[in-house]
Amino acid sequence: MDKIKFATVWLAGCSGCHMSFLDLDEFLFDIAEAVDMVYSPVASDIKDYPDNVDVCLVEGAIANEENLKLLLEVRRKTKFLISFGDCAVTANVPAMRNMLNGSDPVLKRCYLELSDHGGQIPKDPEIVPPLLEKVQPIHHVVEVDLFLPGCPPSAQRIKNAIAPLLKGEKPIMEGRDMIKF
Ligand code: SF4
Repeated sequence: MDKIKFATVWLAGCSGCHMSFLDLDEFLFDIAEAVDMVYSPVASDIKDYPDNVDVCLVEGAIANEENLKLLLEVRRKTKFLISFGDCAVTANVPAMRNMLNGSDPVLKRCYLELSDHGGQIPKDPEIVPPLLEKVQPIHHVVEVDLFLPGCPPSAQRIKNAIAPLLKGEKPIMEGRDMIKF
């Protein structure tokens, strides 16, 4: 059987979901046997998201234009996309700024008010990608094949989702562990 092309993506999140992925401990060896890790912040420095990815875990909400662009590309090139953790599923912590009036108050607070030296708001999108007015969960923008909630999802929950996929099977839904919409 060909190896599964496997990816993980980090959008607007704290990376805690990826840390929970690393908590899979020895199951990581099973994953390494079964997949080609073609894109991931924890496993490679490949810059471009490849074509024909079989499974991708997407951590984080959509908070800026860079997140949005990457997510659309990921969806276009991925067969089975998992919304990975509460920031991806509900927008969670990153969406706390949605209570404010747009993105300007966040930029002013971070770069002007909290700066000891006067500060300035970066204009270069390569340094700070333009923020979207509202932070959104990923299923507001793309179709999601499986929701894996939790902040972060436990390693066991991640394993429950991934183990069947490694055998070419769909995950079995078990209560709140995996929610298929
Ligand atoms: Fe971090 Fe929780 Fe968001 Fe995961 S769901 S990225 S652990 S805040």
